[in-house]
Amino acid sequence: PPRKLAAGNWKMNGTLASLAEVETLMRDCASAEVDILICPPATLLHPMAERVGRGPVAVGGQDCHAKESGAHTGDISAEQLRDAGASHVIVGHSERRADHGETDAAVAAKAVAAHRAGIVSVICVGETEAQRDAGETLDVIARQLADSVPGCATAANTVVAYEPVWAIGTGRTPTGEQIAEVHAAMRKALVARFPDGAGFRLLYGGSVKPSNAAEIFAIADVDGALVGGASLKASDFGPIVKAL
Ligand code: 13P
Repeated sequence: PPRKLAAGNWKMNGTLASLAEVETLMRDCASAEVDILICPPATLLHPMAERVGRGPVAVGGQDCHAKESGAHTGDISAEQLRDAGASHVIVGHSERRADHGETDAAVAAKAVAAHRAGIVSVICVGETEAQRDAGETLDVIARQLADSVPGCATAANTVVAYEPVWAIGTGRTPTGEQIAEVHAAMRKALVARFPDGAGFRLLYGGSVKPSNAAEIFAIADVDGALVGGASLKASDFGPIVKAL
């Protein structure tokens, strides 16, 4: 099975003072046998990358533009993320899809850009509550996977995160059976499409906290977590990392 990954998405939170949390995390998790990734806001990428150095914590962006450079005010390219010290970038987070109208095709183009720049794409998929209630979850996930994960994806350059929209920031999580069902379907789709589909890391995200992490990580085909709110403090994220 792939090595586990504990990823934190700080979203639009954090200032230079927050770098102290990463120092604590590195100290607390120095002997953890898992990969750790923090995706801070772009303003903190480079200072955080300098702090973590070559230690156990990797740093990633939260989004990138599909192009390498140019007249795109406010955007950041995958090459710029890499230059700032990022080894990963989240693409297709539901907040980007909702707030910025990102389509599956746009997300795939961003993942291609990440691979072009030599960084790992963390591609997010997930159904809304209305879609789940309508019984469409597996269809939605299949379509998002087919259209957001580009043909150049490999187990080495791509991580897939299942984040049900209704579980993000709500304190509500799917049942273990529901997570298992989606992760099994994602694994099957990746194995059918990619020669190394069995090696892609599949993360679960949505209201992961210290109290539910161990239970979620025990589910088949859950290779780690993408954590929002509980990644901001080392006192929450450290225990989640250790639960892996
Ligand atoms: P929460 O952990 O705050 O629910 O956020 C999950 C998420 O969106 C991570 O990308």
